[in-house]
Amino acid sequence: MSFRATVLTLYPEMFPGTLGISLAGKALEAGLWSLEATQIRDFATDRHRTVDDTPAGGGAGMVMRADILARAIDAASPQNDTRPRILMSPRGKPLTQRRVRDLAAGPGAVVLCGRFEGVDQRVIDARQLEEISVGDYILSGGEVAAHVLLDAVVRLLPGVMGNEASGTEESFEGGLLEHPHYTRPQEFEGLAIPEVLTSGNHAKIAAWRRAEAERTTTERRPDLLGQAVQK
Ligand code: SAH
Repeated sequence: MSFRATVLTLYPEMFPGTLGISLAGKALEAGLWSLEATQIRDFATDRHRTVDDTPAGGGAGMVMRADILARAIDAASPQNDTRPRILMSPRGKPLTQRRVRDLAAGPGAVVLCGRFEGVDQRVIDARQLEEISVGDYILSGGEVAAHVLLDAVVRLLPGVMGNEASGTEESFEGGLLEHPHYTRPQEFEGLAIPEVLTSGNHAKIAAWRRAEAERTTTERRPDLLGQAVQK
């Protein structure tokens, strides 16, 4: 069975959005994955379809209600659903390529998009939501973060990427940032392509790329180095 994504959001019209275009969009059309965007307001109980309320303890903004979110989650993901339930959240674990790979190997994901100040902690606890962050900054809602997560996952699904090899040689896959790329023209504004790349010597090219990857990672992301796989 193909990867099944269910997104719970106040803005279902934001989906598929970018996920309906290019690689992910073609894969969606081909049935390599599926996407359902559910309106959380459909699970509200009052005439105004209210999903939020003022924060206990006071303070600015509004908080999404636990009871309404739980109803939306339970409808999207019954007890026997083995898909992980994810809450996009700046308080979550930073998303990594490793988590992306694991998700791509699984049955799919139920992704809850927060709005306002966030969601009542009790629904996170009671429904065992896995909180995932896409970076140390605040977005106005979880939808764009869900796009990031699903885009990263979908491109790894079997049959989605034309050249399967390109999925395993990229930044982060070996614990390193990728080497730089060059293509034609041979000379651009007086700058030549590094000679080794046009030498045809594949062992030399691989060694050069590895050295460049290590140099760039050391300069920019020394925190990644401890994780690098020795080749
Ligand atoms: N008051 C919260 C921020 C709320 S932003 C705080 O300070 O932590 C509103 C919603 O946007 C969040 O509930 C979450 O779903 C989403 N969001 C914002 N930034 C995010 C990030 N870096 N990663 C993932 N989701 C994010």
